[in-house]
Amino acid sequence: RLENLTKVFVEKKQKETIAVNDMTLTIPSGKLIGLLGPSGCGKSTTLFMISGLLKPTSGKIFFGNDDVTKLAAEKRGIGLVFQNYALYPHMTVQQNIMFPLENLNVKRDEAIERTYDMAKLVGIEELLDRKPGQLSGGQQQRVAIARALVKKPRVLLLDEPLSNLDARLRLQTREEIKRIQRETGITTIFVTHDQEEAMSISDEIVVMNYGVTQQMGEPQKVYTNP
Ligand code: ADP
Ligand code: ADP
Repeated sequence: RLENLTKVFVEKKQKETIAVNDMTLTIPSGKLIGLLGPSGCGKSTTLFMISGLLKPTSGKIFFGNDDVTKLAAEKRGIGLVFQNYALYPHMTVQQNIMFPLENLNVKRDEAIERTYDMAKLVGIEELLDRKPGQLSGGQQQRVAIARALVKKPRVLLLDEPLSNLDARLRLQTREEIKRIQRETGITTIFVTHDQEEAMSISDEIVVMNYGVTQQMGEPQKVYTNP
């Protein structure tokens, strides 16, 4: 739940940009929510504040009843996937997926098992010994999703995860994301500027513009003004 969330960027003490403007929003748990809006409307800024990578100027963020506004990103229990995957090129797929578990008190055997389970969930269990450079874009994005899920986060945040993929892989990967969300039941926020993509993947769509929520509802019930 976002409560009066606001982010103002100040550049060189002169220009102010109100990226997110007093946004109040309750996101249903266990669903796949599409956060849709034109470029520059504040989607990434919202996602970065939810993740804890960016501090709000004012307002609050709750996960369930927990106020996480002041919690560090690592302590929020979120999984993040960006459009450019950000995999470690020198590590294998297995090492990439396992990496978030290294600083936790997870025994090696269990880490390997959880890594395998996640790889299987996203359908890349045959590719664990490869390096990212030996994978297609769609496969790399699945690795990124497995890595985001291995810590069993409460919320999965996907920032334009399909935009670097070609048309065919985009369709295929979005079906995969939908399936993974259904199988795990994890609350997922999927940021996109692509209306068709949002309509096809989301249980509910939040339409954003100029830093505020314009509408929220099931895809068929949301009408957007391009
Ligand atoms: P979207 O993800 O919807 O494309 P963003 O959240 O990236 O939009 O950006 C919202 C607004 O905030 C834009 O006007 C953008 O230029 C501005 N903005 C984003 N990040 C910064 C920053 N670090 N400094 C200054 N302005 C920023
Ligand atoms: P797509 O058709 O999905 O874009 P690619 O043509 O990139 O996929 O790859 C087809 C298959 O070849 C995939 O299974 C991928 O893992 C494998 N592959 C691609 N590049 C390499 C590489 N450099 N080394 C080994 N396997 C590769």
